[in-house]
Amino acid sequence: MSHRSLNLDDTLYQYLLDHSLREHPQQAALREATRAQPLARMQISPEQGQFMALLVKLLGARRCIEVGVFTGYSALSVALALPPDGRILACDISDEYTAIGKPFWQRAGVAHKIELRLAPAVQTLEAQLAAGEAGRYDFAFIDADKTGYDDYYERCLQLLRPGGLIAIDNVLWSGAVAQPAQDADTRALQALNDKLHRDERIDYSMLPLGDGLSLARKR
Ligand code: CA
Repeated sequence: MSHRSLNLDDTLYQYLLDHSLREHPQQAALREATRAQPLARMQISPEQGQFMALLVKLLGARRCIEVGVFTGYSALSVALALPPDGRILACDISDEYTAIGKPFWQRAGVAHKIELRLAPAVQTLEAQLAAGEAGRYDFAFIDADKTGYDDYYERCLQLLRPGGLIAIDNVLWSGAVAQPAQDADTRALQALNDKLHRDERIDYSMLPLGDGLSLARKR
């Protein structure tokens, strides 16, 4: 559950940050505020946030989904990349952690783009499907409980338009996926990685960015 890219030594990682990072001041401030949290490693790295912002712009995305908000750094990164009428349906069950991010969303001027739903994500996504929203989203980021990933993936795939993109976090799980699984989280990630590798509904790439980021483009 590294919060920085694998296989870079400290010097090279610092070089990468120094020569690429373009953080909004509120992104930097939110990272600082999250650092004090015991689960701070759950936050995506700043270079991953910037990469996802670039994807959002490449897609021309207006409607996004996030499953797993934590303290809201990724939602902030995506919101800053969206046009003024862009929106993120942000799904989480923790009022405590998402509340940390809200003031930073507000100060960055993007709070109106982030529609936070505090409920089990499957319930929120099912409600979207029931409301006829299938095929109407451009981008989804899945970064929540690993045993739920497959449920989130299947629903996000339905909600996406053809050409839309799902980004899935922690797919390398600090290397554990390459070893015999000792726990349910690793087993779930291994099964999903195997499934996506063969999934003909998507174009696919697995990146060694952060803790492993899979990209699935809906065909
Ligand atoms: Ca993650």
